[in-house]
Amino acid sequence: MQAPLLELKGIGKIYVSDSNVSVGIRGVNLAFNAGEFVAVTGKSGSGKSTLLNVISGMDTYEEGELLVEGEPTSHYMQKDWEEYRKQYISFIFQDYNIIESFTVLQNVELALMNMENPRERRARALELIRRVGLEKHVNHKGSRLSGGQKQRTVIARALAKDSPIILADEPTGNLDSQSSKEIIELLREVSADKLVIVVTHNFEEVEAHATRHIRVYDGAVEVDHNVRPAAPVPAAAVSSAPPPTAARKAAHHVRNGFLLGRVRFTAMPKLTVFLCLLMTVTSLVVFFMTSLTYDSRDLFKDKTMFTHVDGRLVIVRRDGGIITDEELAALSEEVGATDFLHYDSMLDESIRLTIGADYDRYQFSFGYPAEDVKLDAGRYPAANDEVILEVPVSFKTYLGTEGFEETRLPLLFNMASYTVVGVRYYYDNTRTPRMLFTEEGYQIASALAFYSEQKSNFSYNISLTHPEVEDYRYGLSMGGDTYVDFGLPEGTYFVNHSQMAEYVRSLCKMQGKPIDRDEVVISTVMSGSFNRYQYEIFDEGLWSNGKAMDIGGIGYGDGETVQYPLDKYSVVWDISEALKGDLESAFYEKWSDTVGIASSHFVVVSPDVLLDFMYEQYYTKAYTQASLFFDSDREARSRVETLRDMGYTAVASGETVEPEVLELLERNISAGMNAFLWFITIGFSTIFLHLCSSRAMNATKGDVAIMRSMGIPTVVVRISIYVQTLISLIPAVIVTTITAIVIYTVPTTNYKFPFLHAGDYAILAVVLLAIAINLSRKYVKRMFGESVKKTLRFAKGGAKE
Ligand code: ADP
Ligand code: MG
Repeated sequence: MQAPLLELKGIGKIYVSDSNVSVGIRGVNLAFNAGEFVAVTGKSGSGKSTLLNVISGMDTYEEGELLVEGEPTSHYMQKDWEEYRKQYISFIFQDYNIIESFTVLQNVELALMNMENPRERRARALELIRRVGLEKHVNHKGSRLSGGQKQRTVIARALAKDSPIILADEPTGNLDSQSSKEIIELLREVSADKLVIVVTHNFEEVEAHATRHIRVYDGAVEVDHNVRPAAPVPAAAVSSAPPPTAARKAAHHVRNGFLLGRVRFTAMPKLTVFLCLLMTVTSLVVFFMTSLTYDSRDLFKDKTMFTHVDGRLVIVRRDGGIITDEELAALSEEVGATDFLHYDSMLDESIRLTIGADYDRYQFSFGYPAEDVKLDAGRYPAANDEVILEVPVSFKTYLGTEGFEETRLPLLFNMASYTVVGVRYYYDNTRTPRMLFTEEGYQIASALAFYSEQKSNFSYNISLTHPEVEDYRYGLSMGGDTYVDFGLPEGTYFVNHSQMAEYVRSLCKMQGKPIDRDEVVISTVMSGSFNRYQYEIFDEGLWSNGKAMDIGGIGYGDGETVQYPLDKYSVVWDISEALKGDLESAFYEKWSDTVGIASSHFVVVSPDVLLDFMYEQYYTKAYTQASLFFDSDREARSRVETLRDMGYTAVASGETVEPEVLELLERNISAGMNAFLWFITIGFSTIFLHLCSSRAMNATKGDVAIMRSMGIPTVVVRISIYVQTLISLIPAVIVTTITAIVIYTVPTTNYKFPFLHAGDYAILAVVLLAIAINLSRKYVKRMFGESVKKTLRFAKGGAKE
C-alpha cells in the first residue's frame, strides 16, 4: 500500500518561554492524502496554528515523527526543512503575507522562480492571476489591494508553486462573509488534486466543501471524521522530473538572486532613494578623504638619494676634478649613454612657491628646453632671463587667462630677474610644477641652484606681480643640503662645490662683469626671516656704510654668523649694489622693514680674503657632478662597474636611501596621521551607513520571512539583498565621478583637492564595494538570524490568534 502523503505519529510540541511552559499540541496521530480538503477547528489557543506550523516545517516538534510520503523527518536540519517547504508546501496566512511593496504580478512571479524562461514565467503568472480573478490588478502594489484581493493573490501564489500541500491558517479571518465564501470556493476549485488543510473557527464556511473535519481541543485531536469522500487523485501527484545538476541549480539561483534584487530595488522607491543617498554621501566622503590624505602614500614610496629618472646615473670623478663638457660628451658616447646632463643638480632641486597659504603645497622643479611644452598662453622664452611656467590649472586665477602675453609677469629669482613669458596649464595637481628655461638659461639657473645648495635653510623671495592683482608676493624658498655619500675613503662630501665658481662666473657674465680666474666670489647671506634687530645690525654693516659684512651660512651651522671687518678685504665688486638698481625701488620701500623678508647678495672680493674652510670646500675637496642617461635603470646599473674602472663613482638615481626607523617615522608623521585618518573615515562611514539604513532595512524583514516561508531558497534571498545594495552604488558612482570632473577642471577648486589617478579610483571602488558588501552582510545576518515564524509574528506586531 502506498504511504500517505503526510503522517503524524504521536507528535508533540511544547513551547518553553522564560516563565512558563505551554503545550502547543500533544499526542497527535493523523494521516493525510492528496485530494483531501480538511477543515481544522477548535477554540482559540487549542493548537490549530501549531499543528499547521509543524506540518509546514516552520516549527520543530519535540515528540513523535512526521512522515512525508513515508520518510521520517525528525532528523531534518534547517536546510532540509527549507527544501521540504520548497517542494511540498504552500502556506496561506490569515493576514495574507504578501509582499506589500511588490505588485500582484511580482508576488506571483516570486513563486515561479523555478521556471527558467522569464517569458514563460510571465505568461504563467498572468494565467494564474486571471484564474483568481485579479486580471485588473496585475500591476497594483500589494499595499493597494483589499483583503480579499490580497488573499486571492496568495492563492495565485500558492498555485504558482504547484505544491501538493496547501496549508491555510484562518485564511478568511480578516474578510467579510461574502469575500470569505468566494475565497473558500476558489481554494476548493483550484486545488481538487491537492491536500488542503484549512484552519477556521467558522466551520459553516467550509462545510460545503470539506471532505474531513478535525477538531482540536487543548492540543489534542478531539474529533476526526470524514464528511464526504475525498476526490480521487491519480498516483504520483508529486512530479518527479530529474533533479537538475548542482552547477545548473547554482546558476539558476544566482540568476534569480539578481532578478529578485532588481525587483526589490525598484519595488521600494523610498528605501532605494534613501539607500542611494546614503551611498552617495559615503562615496563622496571617501572620495574627498582619499584626495585630502593623498600624501599618506609617501609612507610607501621609496626614498631615493636623487630625483629618480628612469635610467639616470649620477657620476663624480674619483680624483675630485671638474668634469668638462667635452669630457662628458666623450664619456657618454664611450659608455653608450643615450643622453647626458652637466648641470644635473637642478633635477634634484625644487623651489617652494607660496601665494598666501593656498599654494603652499607646490614645489617647483626646473627644466629645459621650454620648447618641448605646448603652451596655453604666451610665447616661448627667447632670452636667458625668460621662463615659462608649467602649472596646475588653479594658477589661472592668479596668472589670468586673457591677455597673458601683454602682462608678462616679472619674476625675481634670487639675484637674477626673470620674466614669465608663457604658461602651460594641466589638471593633475599632484604633478610637480616646472619652471622652464632656455638651454643656456637653465645652465645659469643651475649654477644658482648649486650655490643655494651650500646653505641650509636658504631662502629667497620671488616677487611675482600681476597688474590687476595687487600685492601678490610669491615667496620661494630653495634648499636643504644635499649630502651624498659616495663611499669614498674620506667620508661624506658636498657635491658640486666647485660649480660655485662656475656659477659665479655665469652670473657675472650675465651681469656683464666677467671675472678673472684668480679672483673669487664669496657671498654674504641673510637668510630666512630676520627681525628688525638683525636688520639693524646688517644695516650698520655692509649695506649702509661698507664697514663690515656678515658672512653667514656657508660652511657653518644654521644661523651662525661671523662678522669680519670689511677694511681687511678688498672688495672687487658688490653684486648686491649692482642688482639693487635693477630692483624696483618700490619693492624695497615696501618690504625693507617688514619682518619675514629674506634676501641675499654677493660680494666679489680678491683671493686673499678666501677663508681656509672655503678654499678647502670649493677647491680641494670639491667634486663635479653630472648625469648620464640610459634606456632603463637596469642599463644604468650595468655601467657602474665600467665607470668605476674609468675613474668615476656612479650612483643610479633609483638607489634608495634607507633611513633609520625613527627618522622614517619622524619624516612621515603627517603622512602616517593622514593614513590613520583615512582608515578612521572609512570606519565611521561604515558605521554611519549601517546606523542610518538599519531601520529602513529592518522594515523589509517581514518580506524576507515571507519569501522564506514560500520556500524561496535562502541563497536567492541573500543574493538579492547584495544585489539591491550594490545597485544603489550606481548613482553614488555617477555623482562622485561628476564631482571629480567638476572639481579638477574648475581652476578655483582644482588646487584644494589633490588629483586622484586611476589607481586611486580603483582603491575607492574597492572600499565602496567593501562597505556595501559589509552592509549587506550585516543585513543578511539579521534577516536570517531568527526563525521565519518569529520574524513573521514580529513583523506583524506580535502574535495573533
Ligand atoms: P490556535 O491557533 O489554535 O489559536 P496556537 O497553536 O497558536 O493556537 O497555540 C497553542 C498553544 O501554544 C497556546 O497555548 C499558545 O499560547 C501556545 N503558543 C503558541 N505559539 C507559541 C509561542 N511561540 N511561544 C509560546 N507559546 C506559544
Ligand atoms: Mg491560530
